[in-house]
Amino acid sequence: MNSPVIASDLLAELQCHGVRWQGADGLSRKGGAGPSDHKALTFGERTAMVPMLNRASLDSPYSAVPDASGGQALIFREGLQVGQVQMPGVPNFYALSTDDGVPFWKIATLHSKDVLATTLLQHCIRMNDAATACQFCAINQSLASGKTIARKRPAQLAQVAKAAVQLDGVKHMVMTTGTPQTPDRGAAILCESAAAVTAAVDLPIQAQCEPPDHDHWFTRLKDSGVVSLGMHLEAVTDAVRQRIMPGKAQVPLSRYFSAFEAAVKVFGHGQVSTYILAGLGDSEDAIAQMSERLAAMGVYPFVVPFVPIDNTPLAHHPKPDSAFMQRLYPRIGASLRRHGLHSERINAGCAKCGACSALKNHE
Ligand code: SF4
Repeated sequence: MNSPVIASDLLAELQCHGVRWQGADGLSRKGGAGPSDHKALTFGERTAMVPMLNRASLDSPYSAVPDASGGQALIFREGLQVGQVQMPGVPNFYALSTDDGVPFWKIATLHSKDVLATTLLQHCIRMNDAATACQFCAINQSLASGKTIARKRPAQLAQVAKAAVQLDGVKHMVMTTGTPQTPDRGAAILCESAAAVTAAVDLPIQAQCEPPDHDHWFTRLKDSGVVSLGMHLEAVTDAVRQRIMPGKAQVPLSRYFSAFEAAVKVFGHGQVSTYILAGLGDSEDAIAQMSERLAAMGVYPFVVPFVPIDNTPLAHHPKPDSAFMQRLYPRIGASLRRHGLHSERINAGCAKCGACSALKNHE
């Protein structure tokens, strides 16, 4: 497994089972939006996010043992070495702070090896009520543990983005947000934040939000410097949406589809994407059919194995079956090819990064 491209089936295994980490915490993400409880591992040319720090990974047949330098680790399956990986170092921009003393790493973090990621609002209207909260979400955990700040200001983001480009060569930026009370669903603060970053540094930005109340927000986002947009379904059938994300499920699938259609007209074919979490109850056929429908519209279905995150209602949910993912990925890949979608042609964002999934290997 020292080849430049990690074998897809091994990556699917590692991302579904997780890996028991046999070293100190190092550079990792615990809690928050995005790939929580993961570490970035580089296999040859490819960097992937692999769950390691959650309790669900403790029964994994895979383990990782870092070397003394912390720059490399060996991967074992039940005692037999199956691979060797590089561990990305701590980014240079993490050592800096804003003029008012906020460490840059509390404002935005490095994802994978070259993506700058931030959550503008570390609160969501749905998070404090079990009747509405998304059960997989850990957005409040990193705030509670002091690893981030509640609201990232545009000027702070501009300062961090400029440093991350200059000192660490980041290539694109993901701006997500907890959903605020306002009907724009966070689009307005995404606009002001993207405009500030774009004025400071040349860095392609993907914005992520729920479908806003009006489609004119898509033009405003684009005019602010956003080049790709993510609106995340998470689950694809009504039954699973109601069970796993009862608040967000109040936004009907029909609204997601009208928003996708309008957004593709603004951002272009393949520049709009959606995150789909596999392993929460949607069948292989349901996810494959939804992915085909999305791809036919020019929306990239970024299908990712669900990871049970500690201290969330789904912490003890079964991990996704790697055989399920290995059957699913080629079906999604066929849809991507059929409709001319490819992660490398996306300007910015999760589907371009691809580190939370093995889908890139099947495009
Ligand atoms: S796909 Fe990349 S940018 Fe998106 S959450 Fe995963 S590591 Fe972060």
